[in-house]
Amino acid sequence: MQNKVLIANRGEIALRIIRACKELGIATVAVYSKADKDSLHVKFADEAICIGNSRSNDSYLNMNRVISAALSTGCNAIHPGYGFLSENERFVSIVEKCGLKFVGPTSEVIAKLGNKAAARAIAKLARLPIVEGSDGVVDSLEEGLAISNKIGYPIMIKASNGGGGKGITIVYSETEFRKTFGKTMMEAKAAFGDSRVYIEKYIENPKHIEVQILGDNFGNVVQLGERDCSMQRNNQKVIEESPCVSLNPLVRRSMGFAAVRLAKAVKYTNAGTVEFIVDKDGKFYFIEMNTRIQVEHPVTEAVTGIDLVKEQLNIAFGSELSMRQYGIKTNGHSIECRINAEDVQNNFRPSPGTIKNLVFPGGNGIRIDSHIYSGYEVPPFYDSMLAKLIVHAPTRKEAIRKMRMALEQFIVDGIITNVDFLYVIMHNPEFVKGNYNTSFIKKVLEEQNNG
Ligand code: ADP
Ligand code: ADP
Ligand code: MG
Repeated sequence: MQNKVLIANRGEIALRIIRACKELGIATVAVYSKADKDSLHVKFADEAICIGNSRSNDSYLNMNRVISAALSTGCNAIHPGYGFLSENERFVSIVEKCGLKFVGPTSEVIAKLGNKAAARAIAKLARLPIVEGSDGVVDSLEEGLAISNKIGYPIMIKASNGGGGKGITIVYSETEFRKTFGKTMMEAKAAFGDSRVYIEKYIENPKHIEVQILGDNFGNVVQLGERDCSMQRNNQKVIEESPCVSLNPLVRRSMGFAAVRLAKAVKYTNAGTVEFIVDKDGKFYFIEMNTRIQVEHPVTEAVTGIDLVKEQLNIAFGSELSMRQYGIKTNGHSIECRINAEDVQNNFRPSPGTIKNLVFPGGNGIRIDSHIYSGYEVPPFYDSMLAKLIVHAPTRKEAIRKMRMALEQFIVDGIITNVDFLYVIMHNPEFVKGNYNTSFIKKVLEEQNNG
């Protein structure tokens, strides 16, 4: 029987998955909302099913419709992409109960790691350093105050079920804590349907470094090196690169071991990412594990030559990993820019609309993962990411030069994008030196506003 995968996502990641399936001879079924009827993932899949209205809640987040679409088209697997239902334990357990393969870890593993507060405890058991903070979820203001006063301000209140950089509040004092604790819980409830929060010490100006891992159903786990995702705005990634230039090789080694240790501790299967923050002294701390493919996976693909989505599919269909740790070598340097439909001048406000004319750069070492085309209407309902521009070159310096050239030739008419902003960052002397942390963009914007 031919394998057939339903892709429970939209945009560039749906296309990315369709491409991998085609290369592997796997049949594909796309699902789409009314707003996405003219999307490329609908055109490029073998079959496509409309699953509802434009709002995510009525379509991409509607579990029954997604699963019915898979069953009625004879699929034997579902690939969730990132966001939407990808880390939803209930969804994954229904998928399993329906006898479908889920292209990701088991619902049991997601249950363990999905709640970020609980994941900290598991990481600690697996001997990973964690940021000082609460033991699990914090239920009351009093409990939260006691913990925060003990570890000392600033602290962060974080939604246990949060993601995408949302549901995180920095708190500088006890007074502020009293004001924001309840509010953060309410925001978490509204954004993630779960009001639970936990507390972490706020590490000042850290780097965000994450390790990509792959595990199969035979107990093999490998790590594919790190990505530096410190270039963030409001805790959301903007530019990612691999390898991290400023990482001490000994720290890199122990982070890699730590990531594999955590994966083995929970019998992790499929692709996953262990996220760490690294403080100014080079000490690293586990923050969370993303139990799915990530937006920035192409930079790892560039330097390792491994197709992560094909590996995900092969693992899900029962194959053993096609590589061993000693066989994984990295080559050169890769950088990714997230091209978003947003107005940098107006506080990065989303700017949907119709793309009148579109020109993509090309050439050696350039990759674009994108679902947009000339005449495409960017809907206002979803994430504002239009494209990922990825470059690969022998050295970081060459990769930066290539990225500058590619951004110059990345032309989107009709809507406002952040291309110029990315271009400016590629010329920032501190970025060029590799000297940046998670507060870099904030600082750059403040300097611009003052000068
Ligand atoms: P990555 O970790 O792969 O860099 P992001 O954090 O940028 O991914 O998230 C990718 C997409 O998934 C974004 O659209 C983001 O809003 C969404 N997302 C991630 N986690 C969650 C979550 N827990 N709930 C809802 N949306 C999420
Ligand atoms: P999400 O699930 O939204 O991805 P994370 O826990 O991964 O949330 O945190 C997102 C970002 O917020 C991190 O990449 C980092 O920049 C920042 N951050 C998270 N925890 C801390 C912390 N304890 N101290 C300082 N910054 C943090
Ligand atoms: Mg994260």
